[in-house]
Amino acid sequence: MTKTRAYMDWNATAPLLPEAREAFLRVGLMEGNPSSVHREGRAVRAEIESARRRVAVALGAGPADVVFTSGATEAANLVLTPEFRMGRSALQFGTLYVSAIEHKAVFEGGRFARGDVVAVPVDRGGVVDLAALDAMLSAHDHSTGLPMVALMLANNETGVIQPVTQAARLVHAAGGVIVVDAVQASGRIAFDIATLDADFVIVSSHKIGGPKGAGALVARGEAMMPSALIQGGGQEKGHRSGTENAAAIAGFGAAAEVVVKDLDERAETVRKARDHIEARMREIAPELVIHGASGERLANTIFFSLPGLKSETGQIAFDLEGVALSAGSACSSGKVGESHVLKAMGLDPRMGALRISIGTSTTEQDIERTIAAFAKIVGRLTAPRAA
Ligand code: PLP
Repeated sequence: MTKTRAYMDWNATAPLLPEAREAFLRVGLMEGNPSSVHREGRAVRAEIESARRRVAVALGAGPADVVFTSGATEAANLVLTPEFRMGRSALQFGTLYVSAIEHKAVFEGGRFARGDVVAVPVDRGGVVDLAALDAMLSAHDHSTGLPMVALMLANNETGVIQPVTQAARLVHAAGGVIVVDAVQASGRIAFDIATLDADFVIVSSHKIGGPKGAGALVARGEAMMPSALIQGGGQEKGHRSGTENAAAIAGFGAAAEVVVKDLDERAETVRKARDHIEARMREIAPELVIHGASGERLANTIFFSLPGLKSETGQIAFDLEGVALSAGSACSSGKVGESHVLKAMGLDPRMGALRISIGTSTTEQDIERTIAAFAKIVGRLTAPRAA
């Protein structure tokens, strides 16, 4: 079947994997409430627990350390709070340090007061400034509570990979806790919670080929946990009340198992496709700027600017040519905001930037359609205007 569109927006949502679809539909049709003790309830519970094990294995965590949520945004709001418990004792955090390029889900600071959230700068390559972080942690006022740091493993716009393990060393030396948003990195680069040296990791189902509506907060051991964001029936051991979204969770578990298999080989295939697209784009428009290309980046992402091409018009032009891509920072209204990531990198956020993000099922046809659309758009930009 000839496809009429090319979906090149995997960082927004990755297409549903067949294994996730199967689990999602099968569990969605099951009758029981997972908290019920009867056979129907237990059957749904078994599906959730199986998904929990799969997500845990994918991240090198224990199943008891996985709290299912409605997505990464909720997981961020659960963990980014000044109030924690460690056994029977309360634990207080004073300041949240977030990198200036965090996704809004994290950047907004969750349940911290706005004044207690401090942005850590990044360099022109889009990598967090560890010396600045170290200086901030050294100056942290412990009388207000412990320091908490949130640093993403890979940026959603540029794909730039962050030095999380080095940051974790600094954070732990300062007696703090580090939360890692691994939403874009999961299924794309190999990592586990222990090698990252993270205290908490946030992941999202729909970014790895699972259904929308599930995510998780994964802790490195259960010793220290945030106060609950949603209270009620005590599901998820009291960390997240409310009947679990069993179908989405089952699909999430299935996707988590698939994406960590042969990860390096799959990433290499994606990298070759990405490099090919970039090379062709550079041939068509030598003035092309690819953001974050100087450092280590996800193999699937191209965040680019072209003089004269605005984000919004570029996005629409590609859409009309049958190519779905994004400006990297679409808000819920669908409006294109200025990129705070570009701004943090010292660039003019008004310069248009567009993001192509691909994955393992991106076809040659998708790639050719995208390149043809790019050539057409560039042609229109450079064509002399009729008098
Ligand atoms: N963190 C990053 C890096 C993201 O890219 C996204 C989604 O765009 C989120 C968090 C939010 O994820 P969710 O859609 O599961 O709430």
